Amino acid sequence: MTRLEAVQGDVTTIEVDAIVNAANAQLAGGGGVDGAIHAAGGPSILEECRRIVAERGPLPTGQAVVTGAGDLPARHVIHTVGPIWGQHTEAEAVELLASCYRSSLDQAMAHGCRSVSFPAISTGVYGFPKDLAATTAVAAVREWVEEHPDALDRILFVCFGADDLERYERELA
Ligand code: ADP
Repeated sequence: MTRLEAVQGDVTTIEVDAIVNAANAQLAGGGGVDGAIHAAGGPSILEECRRIVAERGPLPTGQAVVTGAGDLPARHVIHTVGPIWGQHTEAEAVELLASCYRSSLDQAMAHGCRSVSFPAISTGVYGFPKDLAATTAVAAVREWVEEHPDALDRILFVCFGADDLERYERELA
């Protein structure tokens, strides 16, 4: 059984095997979750990101790659690129966001992780509406879990604010 939980907090302090980063295509760091992860994890994560982009180019929206987690209390960081709201049709944006969650879980499973935490991908500077993002995230994760029963023990939705916690608790109820 895989448990799905919503918690309020900062992604960098949560103890799980892999934390998912809401990255950009260049894996170049930035603000929000991305900035917090690199600030807390130290320079080794960014070095690995640079090597990945040098080898394979920018990461397409909806895909995910794995690096080490530096000083974070996790083994891996899974970097995924969410859709920028307004750059796609609504249906495409929903599918790309769902793909971020599915691809991240595929990577977690491939790296032998048992627990994964997600931020609310695309809902910061990328502007994705928060209700639609939460519905999409929970539906995509539930679908993946049905297809991969027992692959993971825990999947956490880490909510930065009380409004997001309420939103995710409603979705998970
Ligand atoms: P994106 O560029 O994908 O929109 P952001 O990092 O700007 O990503 O924001 C994604 C979401 O993560 C927002 O809802 C934001 O409030 C939240 N957030 C920002 N910092 C953190 C953090 N340290 N831990 C958890 N969530 C965070």
